Amino acid sequence: MKNIIKKSITTIIIMALALTLAMPVTAQAAKKKTPKISKTKVTMTITKKKTKPAVQLKVKNVSAKNVKWTTSNKKVATVSKNGKVVAKKKGNAVITVKVKGSKTLRCKVTVKDNRKPVTKKPNPAPKPDGECEHNWVQKEKVVGTKLECSCGLLFDNEEKWYEHCDALMENGLENCGVSILEITKTYYECSKCHKTK
Ligand SMILES: [Zn+2]
Ligand SMILES: [Zn+2]
Repeated sequence: MKNIIKKSITTIIIMALALTLAMPVTAQAAKKKTPKISKTKVTMTITKKKTKPAVQLKVKNVSAKNVKWTTSNKKVATVSKNGKVVAKKKGNAVITVKVKGSKTLRCKVTVKDNRKPVTKKPNPAPKPDGECEHNWVQKEKVVGTKLECSCGLLFDNEEKWYEHCDALMENGLENCGVSILEITKTYYECSKCHKTK
């Protein structure tokens, strides 16, 4: 009789111990479940020495076999099946990672190219109006960007395109392509004194 009581007390203690030990573990497991991309934004610069800069992206809290990487613009940046992003040329691309049974994650990639020397404009001292016989040359400047989806729709910003793309991907589309359109404005610059109008 004594023995049985002792035994059950020990069992209760062991069970209580097991519970306290198990609780933080379950809390951690719950926290682990949200897949997270290692970077949501990345800038790579192509230089003379480094013509193909690369970056390794990872999705935390998910097995590598359950993710699928795609790029919106192969000409700008490619992505391997393991998430290695390689810059190809100047521009923008969005790397999309489809996580099995979970949400789609993205990383915005900006590729810069500093191989071309920046041509410096001659900057003569501005002369007072009237002294220069202006020679107006039509020029263009970039005033903004828009995103053009591969389906032809235009979007003001990435968030709006993401929403549209998410909806398409929920309906089974593998990947959404996008190109960045530059909105330009025409202006005139004098080729002699560089005054603009
Ligand atoms: Zn002028
Ligand atoms: Zn579209």
